[in-house]
Amino acid sequence: MTNGLDRAGGIAALAGDTPWDLVIIGGGATGLGTALDAAARGYRTLLLEGHDFAKGTSSRATKLVHGGVRYLAQGNIPLVHHALHERGRLLANAPQVTRRQGFVVPCYRWWDVLFYGAGLFAYDLLAGKLGLGRSRLLSRAEVMQRLPTVKTDGLVGGIHYYDGQFDDSRLAITIAASAADHGATLLNYVRVTGLLKEDGRIAGVTARDMETGTDYRIPAKAVVNAAGIFMDEIRHMDRPDLAEGLSLSQGIHLVLDPGFLASDDAILIPKTDDGRVLFVLPWLGRTVIGTTDTPIPTASMEPHALEAEIQFLLDHAAHYLTRAPARSDVLSVFTGIRPLVKVKGASGTSAVPRDHVLLVSDSGLVTITGGKWTTYREMAEQTVDAALRVGGFTPTPSPTKELRLHGWTPRERIDSADPLAAYGADTPKVRAVLAEQPGWDAPMHPDLPYALGEAAYAARHLMARTVEDVLSRRTRALLLNAQAAVAAAPAVAQVLAAELGRDAAWIDKQVAEFTALAGVYQA
Ligand SMILES: Cc1cc2nc3c(=O)[nH]c(=O)nc-3n(C[C@H](O)[C@H](O)[C@H](O)COP(=O)(O)OP(=O)(O)OC[C@H]3O[C@@H](n4cnc5c(N)ncnc54)[C@H](O)[C@@H]3O)c2cc1C
Repeated sequence: MTNGLDRAGGIAALAGDTPWDLVIIGGGATGLGTALDAAARGYRTLLLEGHDFAKGTSSRATKLVHGGVRYLAQGNIPLVHHALHERGRLLANAPQVTRRQGFVVPCYRWWDVLFYGAGLFAYDLLAGKLGLGRSRLLSRAEVMQRLPTVKTDGLVGGIHYYDGQFDDSRLAITIAASAADHGATLLNYVRVTGLLKEDGRIAGVTARDMETGTDYRIPAKAVVNAAGIFMDEIRHMDRPDLAEGLSLSQGIHLVLDPGFLASDDAILIPKTDDGRVLFVLPWLGRTVIGTTDTPIPTASMEPHALEAEIQFLLDHAAHYLTRAPARSDVLSVFTGIRPLVKVKGASGTSAVPRDHVLLVSDSGLVTITGGKWTTYREMAEQTVDAALRVGGFTPTPSPTKELRLHGWTPRERIDSADPLAAYGADTPKVRAVLAEQPGWDAPMHPDLPYALGEAAYAARHLMARTVEDVLSRRTRALLLNAQAAVAAAPAVAQVLAAELGRDAAWIDKQVAEFTALAGVYQA
């Protein structure tokens, strides 16, 4: 299999007249999963992403592959059961970008030990054969040993359980590469501008290459709207009179030095004073605290953390941790927007309970939204099933339950201390690129775990087009340390310019744009 993420080849393919079997709008978790599912079933598949893959919500998750302990507390057992099975599948199919994560629930009342203990034992049972390890009760001393920075006043004990953790945008790129391996054409920076119709039925899309301004008419037998929080924009292209189908809520995360947690275990605070779930997680050598749930009026590509949200997380961290983080300790703050679906009447054949919604309009536009990263595969399978019905295809089964993703490597061979581990089986290819030029194997910044030459690899093989693509989603520099990412930007721009054939003016513009963007990530 080759790495088929090839932007020039994909753009050339847009000029053809042969209708695509499926055109997918949006390159987040849902759209990419749908492209992989369709291509793996053998359909001629095109995915168009208006910005970069995972630029939207899919690079801004809390990084959990989980069944949803919160849903369990709400008694939504079937939903948790399904999500836990998807969790197990994802960890098996993409070991290079996922891992098992231990969690401790510290308890300050005996009743909580019993309540959450019973809930987490049920969590293990629901996971069945795909479980990640048994939950167990912890004494006060054991909690203190596992969580050296947790407040101990009134602590009575706790529960230890396992869930999954992942690198969201790296998983997105991995799914994109997998879809390309199976023959899909995927393009970033190509925005869908309208829908084509014939006799009232959706017959394709119009789209613009955002790099050149070239417009395309792209015929298709079925069109999938996986535009996330922008799904209404696409639905309005189909029917301008439709009511808004989404309300929006944002969640922020603070990234801190690893010393604030100082543990391999994460902390789950199941209920803060005001009834929210809070996580303190080790992630890529940092501590991440999240998240919030704040209704917001409009969708935005680059949401801003609100002052009150930052303060909420700092205050609650101070409440539960012995070392209270100050504003100046925040290395980065990142924000994602949840689409909360208001539309009723979802179609689809499955009786599976879900927190996502699949809609098929009268003209045949298939819209998929909601859900979570953990369940992207199942959402994709149902979406392709619906698109095949719309396109008049004979249904075929999805092979994705056990489909290993691009770069799959046996988990026991993954060295989690290796900064290149997320490339999986491609790691030797990356090392070869790093050896090409002096300085390429050195860190792009002393406070970042990434080598400068990874920018060249990302441009050649992972469709990185901008400094932001490299520093935010092909590496996670912007999320790990926003200031260090800004400092690395000029060197990264130089490498990218050489790879993409850009001039000095492009370098200056890229650095200025990235520096402005990084301001949003600085608390
Ligand atoms: C704060 C927060 C924390 C979360 N944490 C977790 C977690 O820990 N675990 C978990 O499992 N899930 C989590 N989720 C949920 C998960 O992140 C989302 O369910 C998932 O990322 C949604 O993916 P998507 O593809 O539907 O949307 P998106 O990722 O937003 O993708 C939609 C894409 O469509 C593109 N687009 C829009 N309009 C057009 C157009 N006209 N033409 C072309 N492209 C277009 C956008 O650019 C965007 O990239 C979290 C969500 C939030 C908000």
